[in-house]
This record gives sequence, C-alpha cells and structure tokens, in this order.
Amino acid sequence: MPRERVVIIGSGPAGLTAALYAARGSLNPVLVEGLEAGGQLMYTTAVENYPGFPGGGVQGPELMAAMRKQAEDFGTRFLQGDVSQVELQKRPFTLHFADGRRIATDSLIIATGASARWLDIGSDRKLSGHGVSTCATCDGYFFRGKPIAVIGGGDSAMEEAIYLSRHASRVTVIHRRDTLRASKIMQEKAFKNPKIEFIWDSEIAQVNDVERGEVTGLTLRNLKTGALSDFTVDGVFIAIGHTPNTKLFKGQIDLDENGYILTQSGTKTNVPGVFAAGDVQDHHYRQAVTAAGSGCMAAIDAERYLEGLPEEDEATNDAACAAT
Ligand code: NAP
Repeated sequence: MPRERVVIIGSGPAGLTAALYAARGSLNPVLVEGLEAGGQLMYTTAVENYPGFPGGGVQGPELMAAMRKQAEDFGTRFLQGDVSQVELQKRPFTLHFADGRRIATDSLIIATGASARWLDIGSDRKLSGHGVSTCATCDGYFFRGKPIAVIGGGDSAMEEAIYLSRHASRVTVIHRRDTLRASKIMQEKAFKNPKIEFIWDSEIAQVNDVERGEVTGLTLRNLKTGALSDFTVDGVFIAIGHTPNTKLFKGQIDLDENGYILTQSGTKTNVPGVFAAGDVQDHHYRQAVTAAGSGCMAAIDAERYLEGLPEEDEATNDAACAAT
C-alpha cells in the first residue's frame, strides 16, 4: 500500500487550495476527488464575491477548473473515487475506497464540504429529478416558461430565485418566516425582480403528486393560522441550507451537534495529523474565499505537523501513487 505524506479528501475551494499549498511546499500531495468533484461551486453561476474578478465575477465551474489546474501544475496528484472508510486510530492513517483500493498517509486534510438539505417530508425526495431539485443551474432549463417555487429565505434561495427567473414564467419564494435571512443586497435584487413573488410564514406540507410521478403543485401550511392550501407549480427548488459530509468520520474525530468537524488553533481536529478545512468545519462563514483560506491554513498546519515527526518515522512518500 503506498504511503503518502499528505492526502486531501475533497475537491472544492478548500481541498484545492490545500493541495496548491502542499504541492508548493514539496509535500507531493494526493487529492481524492469524490464523485461530485469541484463541490458546491460546480452548481453555481456567477460568483461575484471571490476577489480578483471584477466586472461580473467568474462562473463557479470556471473558477474550480482554474483552481484544479493550478494545483495540478504544481504537482498535485488526483485520485478519483469516493472514500468508503477511514482508519484514524493510528498513523499512518488508512483510507479505503469502495473498489478495494487503499492508501496510507501521515497526515490527512478533510475538505469534504457540505451537501444540500432536503425537507424531511418524503414527497420532496420521491419527486427528486421529477420536478424537485436542489440545483437551479443544473435543472432550471427544464422549466422554461413554467411557474416554479423556491423554498428557503437565505442567500441560496435568493440566488436560485434570481437565476430561475430567467427561465421560469413566475418564481414564488416560499419562506417559513416573514423576514428573509439573505443578505440585504440579495434581498433587494429579489424584491425588485418583477418575476419573483413571495409567500410568507408558510411551509411545505406536501409536494404533489407522488402517485403521478411528477410535480403538479404544493400543499402549503400557513404557520400562523395552520390553514392548508394548494399552490400550482411545475417545479420546486429546495434551497434550505446544507449538511456537512462527515458520516465517514463519525466516531473517529470530534464533531459538533450538527455534524460539523470541530477544529481548534486553525484547522486541527482532535486527532493529531488530521486537519479539516472549508464548509465541513465552518457553518458560519461558508464562503468560497473563506473555504480557500482555511484550505491554505490546513496545508500549512499539515506541513508543520510533518516537520515535527521523528525522522525515522517519516513516510516513504511513494511518488507513483498507485493506490493498491
Ligand atoms: P442559510 O443561510 O442557512 O438559509 C437557509 C434558509 O432555509 C433559511 O431562510 C431557513 O429559514 C430556511 N430553512 C431551513 N430549514 C428549513 C426547513 N426545514 N423548511 C423550510 N425552510 C427552511 O443557507 P444558505 O442560503 O444555503 O446560505 C448558506 C451560507 O452561504 C450563508 O452564509 C450565505 O450567506 C452563503 N451564500 C452566499 C451566497 C452569495 O453571496 N452569493 C450565495 C449562497 C449562499 P430561517 O431563515 O427561518 O432559518
């Protein structure tokens, strides 16, 4: 089994920035790209708040492709596939892939990000791909000229609503309170968009019609009165936040009550040699630029950790990276 000095799991801004720094630090890193390579920015349109891109920002997938190329140019080696199991009890740590490959490493940077949340009502999941989506840029095109709903009141919901207003005949944002959580600038953009309207104080009781296998509308519950009402739409976009991708690490490193990895003094987890960066450990800022920043910190933390290891104990760092 090849033994590496640093392995990074995750290929969003945190993972790719960690790889760039580790590669430039001559750590010859391996980055494991999951099946959803590139992370959440692959599902975004214009990113207007990543520094360095004036005049309309940069497209999310374009930014990720540039970050990947930059990490690769400095020697990052990429492995494809999802890690199915990790052993973090002793160093070197071992990562197992679903197809039987294994890889050992003296340090690990976890940058597995977070995934879109669903509503917990069953019918939304059942109609996923049949009118219900968590990704406007992936699926918006299918709803050209049709009425659709966006669920949520945060920046994601406003961003999705604004994007979808280009395709849909009407976009109705349905929010469980009467004020938005989204930033003022996003609120203003949504409020002045003539195609976007709002239904307040309401939650989704049910997405109809599971039996027909397609979205015909929503049953809404007014949270102030309890009254139920039907609302006709052809598509539903759920934008209610994210869940950290930490199932793999449960029971092996400390997580908070919402499943986010607990870090201290930068990116250190409670297991020496294991670091965490990006949305997997940050439910507060959750920005591409903060994720990238913490990826940089994790690479520096890993480098310092490796420097502190006894010499005879250092990894052999198999350059071929032929995971067995
Ligand atoms: P968020 O800020 O956590 O907002 C989630 C929204 O969904 C909230 O309005 C919440 O309602 C609602 N919600 C949560 N669970 C729900 C449920 N079960 N049923 C109905 N509604 C539910 O998440 P986000 O919008 O994904 O944003 C995450 C972070 O990324 C934020 O820091 C945001 O600023 C950032 N972001 C920035 C941009 C940008 O700047 N372009 C774009 C996207 C995201 P309540 O308000 O009642 O809690």
